Amino acid sequence: MSDLPFLPFALPEIGEEEIAEVVDTLRSGWVTTGPKAKRFEEDFAAFLAGADAAPLHAIAVNSATAGLHLALEALGIGPGDEVITTTHTFTATAEVVRYLGADVMLVDIDPATLNIDPALVEAAITPRTKAIIPVHYAGLAADMPALLAIARRHGLKVVEDAAHALPTTCRGALVGTLGSDATVFSFYANKTITTGEGGMVVTRDAELARRVKVMRLHGINRDAFDRFTSKTPSWYYEVVAPGFKYNLTDIAAALGIHQLRRARAFRQRRAQIAERFNTAFANLPLLLPPAAQPGDLHAWHLYVVRLSDEASANRDRFIERLFALGVGASVHYIPLHQHPYWRERYALSAERFPHSQRAYERMASLPIYSKMSDADVERVVDAVRGALATR
Ligand SMILES: *Cc1c(COP(=O)(O)O)cnc(C)c1O
Repeated sequence: MSDLPFLPFALPEIGEEEIAEVVDTLRSGWVTTGPKAKRFEEDFAAFLAGADAAPLHAIAVNSATAGLHLALEALGIGPGDEVITTTHTFTATAEVVRYLGADVMLVDIDPATLNIDPALVEAAITPRTKAIIPVHYAGLAADMPALLAIARRHGLKVVEDAAHALPTTCRGALVGTLGSDATVFSFYANKTITTGEGGMVVTRDAELARRVKVMRLHGINRDAFDRFTSKTPSWYYEVVAPGFKYNLTDIAAALGIHQLRRARAFRQRRAQIAERFNTAFANLPLLLPPAAQPGDLHAWHLYVVRLSDEASANRDRFIERLFALGVGASVHYIPLHQHPYWRERYALSAERFPHSQRAYERMASLPIYSKMSDADVERVVDAVRGALATR
């Protein structure tokens, strides 16, 4: 139907600086975890903490999934424990709990924000509950003041899944500095900044940081670059635990160093696109995405619309029509309670998650990324109008 090339749902924006830094890494002779990973960690901590004196540890890993696993491991989550999270997320948020032999307690979302509902979190707490994993869905901060208060009241740990939330603020403070035990960012190909694959664990807890660093590389108490550069014999190391292989390569970190510098500009562009969509879709039979609190930053990783009852298409038809008009779209997420593994493992039914279920049945994620031109944005606007005009 369209003569223009297909507009994909997501695309990374990789510039000449990123490319030059990767080439420099390749020529340097040090391609795995080394000076660039260290620089990326330092830059990341500075990005979040700014001039803040309180030390913020940033530990680079090869995915957010790895980071979530390491954070929970460092907090001592294990068999017999329960961890509460939202059903409206990607499976990685919850699977890491199962890696450790602990159980996942899924709860419903607040339909206004699509984020985990703090009242339902509190209602799901049992004597076995050890931690909460809030997800800042689409880049909108979860209700962290309420969640942190619940955690304090019940003696629970909090690990934020911030895969969508760079940069996001909550009551003026950047996600990563909110006072949870750890916050985990993702640099997967379609996230707000990318290293291809990658992630970052951020914490103010020096002991937790130390454990994450050891477990990220086989439970070895010195990393390869330390061994290479320090004065003690380079061949000597000690294994203190059965760790994992979760380190970030310098090739990936080379991308991250420059992506991070552009993170604010990328967000600015996505916010501009979201604003254009909000205006253009105001009179369509769509529920528009929830906005951030006044003064707060929404990362706009996703732009999620929900079709109203009076829309001429259901969600599946709507996405088919967008594709026919040359525009990619997706769904975030098929809730965990719908997936065979989670449904069967915990005998879940959709009736227990009415808000997530209703949102899922009506939702579509539209393209929103910094590489989109103004013409691309207008193509999405026209396609959405066209898809909803058809009878
Ligand atoms: C992408 C994503 C993850 C996993 O990130 P990886 O870096 O791919 O491991 C976890 N949680 C959420 C909500 C995500 O969107």
